[in-house]
Amino acid sequence: MTLLDVQRLAKRFGAVRAVDGVSFEVARTEMLAIIGPNGAGKSTCFNMIGGQIEPDMGMVLFDGADITRATPQKLFRIGIGRTFQIATVFQSMNVREVLQTALLSRDGRSFSFRLSARAYKKEEAEELSASVGLQGFLDTECRALSYGDLKRVELALALANRPRLLLMDEPTAGMAPDGRQQMMRLVRSLADRSGISVLFTEHDMDVVFNHADRILVLNKGQVLAIGAPDQIRADPAVQAVYLGEDA
Ligand code: ADP
Ligand code: MG
Repeated sequence: MTLLDVQRLAKRFGAVRAVDGVSFEVARTEMLAIIGPNGAGKSTCFNMIGGQIEPDMGMVLFDGADITRATPQKLFRIGIGRTFQIATVFQSMNVREVLQTALLSRDGRSFSFRLSARAYKKEEAEELSASVGLQGFLDTECRALSYGDLKRVELALALANRPRLLLMDEPTAGMAPDGRQQMMRLVRSLADRSGISVLFTEHDMDVVFNHADRILVLNKGQVLAIGAPDQIRADPAVQAVYLGEDA
């Protein structure tokens, strides 16, 4: 069943057709990776779906509803989440406090009083931390976490809103190869357990081919190929585009 339906999406920057009639679907609980050479239109495509860039043409449907020009706030409310880097203001908070703050915000409460946050939905914050493997780190300040563990907190923050679709722009950027595989295994198990679909861009081809259900290959703003990893690997057009690159 389709959760996200992208139809003939297009965006120009001056003379550059950054995204030029891109259509694809993301099924429920599917993990779809967008790949392509530099300048292929991945970020533009991603940011149009996420509400950061307004498309010139085309349509985006989420669970059948038109979300083409919805703001990021609206998308957040209807269950489209995205991972963000932990803001510096959070660095001095411990994991429990950061997660409680996210829960307050999800529930539409103010988080101006740290005292009230401290007692807020403690159990849910604990469950959230456990769901990303950070149950032992609830009292650890974010600035003391390893880079990989900080990425897990960021994932937990996105999960606090119980998204049905998670947008992840290079979720493993900056991580060592082992950490990347671990991170994506975690995302996979969360997607399966909670019924979340994941749309992600990624540079690391090992990550893409090991963890995506399907891969969308963009080239010059257009869909070059879409299919299961084996299919994409064997596609002559894809091989031609990636010739000489690290794919
Ligand atoms: P990718 O993420 O695949 O590397 P982008 O979506 O960032 O590709 O870019 C696609 C094309 O659009 C490139 O030619 C890029 O230079 C151009 N482009 C992207 N954003 C802008 C912008 N804000 N203004 C002008 N040109 C842009
Ligand atoms: Mg990009």
